Amino acid sequence: MKLSIEAIKQKTGDGYDFELEEDLGRVEFKGEDLVFVKPVKVSGRVENLGKGLFGVRGEISATIEGRCYRCLSKTQLEVRLDYSFKFSEKPEKFEDEDEVFIIEEDTLDLTTPVINEIILNLPSKILCSPDCRGLCPYCGADLNLGDCGCGKVNIDPRLRALEKLLKSDDHGE
Ligand SMILES: [Zn+2]
Ligand SMILES: [Zn+2]
Repeated sequence: MKLSIEAIKQKTGDGYDFELEEDLGRVEFKGEDLVFVKPVKVSGRVENLGKGLFGVRGEISATIEGRCYRCLSKTQLEVRLDYSFKFSEKPEKFEDEDEVFIIEEDTLDLTTPVINEIILNLPSKILCSPDCRGLCPYCGADLNLGDCGCGKVNIDPRLRALEKLLKSDDHGE
């Protein structure tokens, strides 16, 4: 994911619009593999901000495959983000800026900043759907597929009392 600044490095304010697409494959995130199921798209504008600083801003869009935090099934997550990165041949000159990435051979490499940006903005818990019912804590069945029927689901205490009553009746007869 590279952009050349060759044509815009002479004059402050010069820039151009771009659209990049690259298959990033697999990235490790919190010990889990993140899989980009489609090429990641990055569009925007790169601009010479003057004094050796270059700015890139625009939109990232990606589709990621991860595991649902509740039911562990594989699930796809659409990511759409606005971003703004800064680059310089001498990043150490811009200590006041948030983070300045390095320019090598007149080239801005967006790959690392793009991956960082996606990871930073991922939800802490990926869910297959906001109302995923997860797994039964007793038998491990996927409750999205229906009740597991293992009988260990939380029974209302009033129902439990009734159940006992009915059982003792059975014994009485
Ligand atoms: Zn789920
Ligand atoms: Zn169960």
